[in-house]
Amino acid sequence: MSSTTSAGASRRTLGSGLRATAKVLPEHTRAHNRALVLQHLFHEGPTSRADLARATSLTRVTVSDLINGLLAEGLVEELGVQRGRGVGKPAILVGMRTDAYQIVTVDLSDDTVMRGAVLTLTGEAVVRRSLSVHDRSGDELVSLIERFARRLIASATQPVIGVGIGAPGVIDESGRVHEAPNRKWTDLPLASLLTDHLGLPVQVANDADVAALGEYTFGGGGDSMLVVTVGQGVGAGLVVDGSRVWGANSAAGELGHVTVVDDGELCACGRRGCLETVLSAPALRRRIEGLDRDAADAALAHVGRILGITLAPVISALNLGEVLLSGPADLLDGSLRDAAQTTVAERTMPAVSAGLRLRMATLDEDVVLAGAAVLVLGAQLGVS
Ligand SMILES: [Zn+2]
Repeated sequence: MSSTTSAGASRRTLGSGLRATAKVLPEHTRAHNRALVLQHLFHEGPTSRADLARATSLTRVTVSDLINGLLAEGLVEELGVQRGRGVGKPAILVGMRTDAYQIVTVDLSDDTVMRGAVLTLTGEAVVRRSLSVHDRSGDELVSLIERFARRLIASATQPVIGVGIGAPGVIDESGRVHEAPNRKWTDLPLASLLTDHLGLPVQVANDADVAALGEYTFGGGGDSMLVVTVGQGVGAGLVVDGSRVWGANSAAGELGHVTVVDDGELCACGRRGCLETVLSAPALRRRIEGLDRDAADAALAHVGRILGITLAPVISALNLGEVLLSGPADLLDGSLRDAAQTTVAERTMPAVSAGLRLRMATLDEDVVLAGAAVLVLGAQLGVS
């Protein structure tokens, strides 16, 4: 987890902070301040009330009042006296009880198996399970997810604060799936259906967006970054200036279906030559099948160049600091990544791309499970 300054910490409060300042109602202000305090404790660890007041720019009275509430909720605890601070009354450290509650998360990005976990509030897996999907789709798949989530909730060893789910498709802020063709879901209010059935708050978001949240909060990702997920399909999630980007139709990051080869291969979306038709893991494996090492490297570099051409305008428009590739390292972390980095550098102003890092993601196959926990942390605690 990257360390943040107090300014950085407050920037990391996704969404709720901005809305709370726009409407200055006491309830909103209190929730906003509570999130500021939790955000600081989550990222910086145990802190005295006085240091919390300094870091959050809240008054000591406000901080003490909030801490009393959080102590009563069991979300924080007093951890003894802070040492080595010279004169004056010794300060008592307050820390978040990150293992006193748990989060259930489900990764639906693979169309053959659903993976799930029970996680602590800092993203450590306590329980892991997986379940074969057996070509289920539509309502049948929703019932299967519900049963799977129920089993996970039952296996938690602490109270569960919520359920987070990363799923393919275009999914809005309320967790409604507008379109997920290969799951046969159209206009499906998945989050509210599951919230009703499970009796716990459920958050649902696009799997690539969830991956970006996971890398941002648990993988040390920067404040302005793009995560490109490469699997059976290709997706991308964006964090800009510390906030997740949604876009006009909640579809920000849909780079997988940008046309990159005129009259290219037919894509799952019904169009031709999408980025997904050259960059998906199956497409890359087909491309290098039977080739010797040098020829395979050259073939992967060719795709890396296409990726670089696709990314250059995105990186320039948003002045991204990092692009993370999430997927099979044997395909992505070599000539493909090098060629993409070189191509981006050739096609963008040095002022934009001088410090750009195009690197592999850090969380491997757990990225969606970790990111789905960030959905719940954000919704329930205001922590990101
Ligand atoms: Zn397509």
